[in-house]
Amino acid sequence: MIHNPAMECMPREEMRKLQTERLIKTVKTCYEKVPFYKRKMDKMGIKPEDITSIDDITKLPFTTKYDLRDEYPFGLQAVPMSEVRRIHASSGTTGKPVVGTYTQNDLDNWAECVARVLAVGDIGPGDVVQVSYGYGLFTGGLGAHDGAAKLGAIQLPTSSGNSEKQIMLMQDFGTTALCCTPSYALHLAECIEKSDTVKAENLKLRVGFFGAEPWTWGIRRELEKKLHIKAIDIYGLTEMSGPGVGGECQYQDGTHVWEDMFYPEIINPETLEPVAPGEQGELVFTSLCKEAMPILRYRTRDLTHLIYEKCRCGRTAVRIGKILGRSDDMLIIRGVNVFPSQVEAILTEFPAFSPQYFITVDRKNHEDTFDLDVELRPEFFSPNPAKQMPFIKPLYDRLCSVMGIKPNVHILPPNSIQRSTGKAKHVNDKRDFSNWR
Ligand SMILES: [Zn+2]
Repeated sequence: MIHNPAMECMPREEMRKLQTERLIKTVKTCYEKVPFYKRKMDKMGIKPEDITSIDDITKLPFTTKYDLRDEYPFGLQAVPMSEVRRIHASSGTTGKPVVGTYTQNDLDNWAECVARVLAVGDIGPGDVVQVSYGYGLFTGGLGAHDGAAKLGAIQLPTSSGNSEKQIMLMQDFGTTALCCTPSYALHLAECIEKSDTVKAENLKLRVGFFGAEPWTWGIRRELEKKLHIKAIDIYGLTEMSGPGVGGECQYQDGTHVWEDMFYPEIINPETLEPVAPGEQGELVFTSLCKEAMPILRYRTRDLTHLIYEKCRCGRTAVRIGKILGRSDDMLIIRGVNVFPSQVEAILTEFPAFSPQYFITVDRKNHEDTFDLDVELRPEFFSPNPAKQMPFIKPLYDRLCSVMGIKPNVHILPPNSIQRSTGKAKHVNDKRDFSNWR
């Protein structure tokens, strides 16, 4: 189902006109109400009246995660606090969190965006939407919740954790849609497999909306098979509002961006220049409707490309191609660029291994070490190392050939790698960078 055909299927020329109109308004607000943007634009010699078309967006300054932290908590806000209705914040691995504030209009627009994604799974009255994203400062829980409400569905706010109870409620309340991180969904699927009382085929679950971390096709296939569902990717980031900046349609061929609200660009992360249409680079977003905290050209660090062709689903909204990783998550090990998501993608090629993994990077005798913990599935596991050899060799060869680096692979017993209830943590980088960076 297409929730808002007028916006999702708008002819591209018309969409450009709407984007131009909204960009001009956003830039004017930023210049007049947010000293941070006035300073940046003055320094570049740009005035709001220089922006007359959406193409002029490349003249505008970028915003980075560091800018958001420097302006913590409300330095980027364009409205008085009396107009703010909610505050969210990302957990942030170091230092101050990234803050997002919302007017009532912002909250309504956000619910609309999430509703567009949920509508792909035909969510409506009578559907029980189990929201197993964390509720709280994290945008996942309340974001998915408000989207489900917008469609008239039944909201089941289980939040994350307490997996036994999640599964019991899923069965007893007849959950039809699950919203959570893909890693938590996988954990729930494993719990269902082990359960004596709950069987996946007896659940009413038919669709899952998974996001907040990158996931591979292997994980998708695994979730679809284990939970008997269609697994839909929901994309978003706190800086732009939260989940629902875009989402997949039923064809799962890229992630549609709700372009009437968020304008995506791809830039070369080195030169900061726009790349040619369709080329890979860093994804950048400008908010076109946000009132409380409008953001110009936010550098997401996500590496991907944009697909402009009209989709088979009828939507004209541009699609984000596969996200290859985040430039932030990239590990440089012995001079080689390694994305943790590559490891996951390789693991899912081998049926004997579970997709769970943990990478430990360290530096010993001036050389980087790369240790990879993996798990065999219960039916393939044996405590006898000799019996593990037939499994480990092909995996090791594949890792070496794809990544160009030799890991120390350790096989652990089933279910010994810690499962996550929120965003999965896959890496411990113990190296001390302070000496050489
Ligand atoms: Zn589509």
